[in-house]
Amino acid sequence: MFIIFGVGNKKEKEKQSHKMEHCYYCNNTTHWLAAKSSDHVSLFFIPVIPYKTSYSYRCPICNTGRKITKEEYEQF
Ligand SMILES: [Zn+2]
Repeated sequence: MFIIFGVGNKKEKEKQSHKMEHCYYCNNTTHWLAAKSSDHVSLFFIPVIPYKTSYSYRCPICNTGRKITKEEYEQF
């Protein structure tokens, strides 16, 4: 019997901010996206264990953004 492990599966969850944010990079004012992305260890190609989670807040037009904390992400 084979057991197939994999690492580095990325899953991303996005939510749109309620407030408008101005982007100095592309010069647009829009609702930015708060994204949570996590890397998973997968078993038989199904992601089972998250081992690294990062949060970011970015402009949906040019994708410029910054890293945020979990607490900040939860406020969006
Ligand atoms: Zn932008």
